[in-house]
Amino acid sequence: MKVVLATHNAHKVAEFQQIVAQTRPDLEVVAYDGPEPVEDGVTFAQNALIKARAACAHTGLPALADDSGICVDVLGGSPGVFSAYWAGQKKDAAANLELLLDQLRDIADPHRTAHFNSTIALVTPDGHEHVVTGIWPGRLATSPAGDGGFGYDPVFIPDGQPAEAERTVGELTDEEKQVQSHRARAFAELMPLLAGL
Ligand code: IMP
Repeated sequence: MKVVLATHNAHKVAEFQQIVAQTRPDLEVVAYDGPEPVEDGVTFAQNALIKARAACAHTGLPALADDSGICVDVLGGSPGVFSAYWAGQKKDAAANLELLLDQLRDIADPHRTAHFNSTIALVTPDGHEHVVTGIWPGRLATSPAGDGGFGYDPVFIPDGQPAEAERTVGELTDEEKQVQSHRARAFAELMPLLAGL
């Protein structure tokens, strides 16, 4: 079965393809290359639906779209849907990360809790719409470490690691990230819905 993945973010396409290859090898995920809609939603779900609806309408295929970001508790859940643009309109990942660390520079470790959110919308040509969410809890490091992944990965320390050997997502291998990430968790929620297509 073919589904179109509505994202122009090459990192996300690669991560999705790895997750799908591990869990649903029968699924052919094709990247969407049609017109990009304006993402003017104010929640992850609204933006994911905007992108999935556009890709489904343009291709006639079932469409998946992920809207994701990092949510920092002490910032009331920000950057949230503004994660890609936190330091301005340029989508500059290094500047986003630097600004976030600067904003939290006086915040002590126990208060640096955060989570990644991946919200995936599935829109089918017969008009069905589903939204699922995956959360990856953790906290923010005080300085970046590792050059794996993308975006905020070098400053995010996932929960559940041995205290003496904690790593940021930037220090995980691709395989380690892909089995536990917010995107993998959302995809796991999506599996029964995909099976029903
Ligand atoms: P979107 O493409 O509009 O959903 O924006 C997502 C933004 O959230 C990205 O540009 C990153 O800044 C951040 N983000 C989402 N997922 C991840 C991840 O897996 N690692 C690091 N940053 C992420």
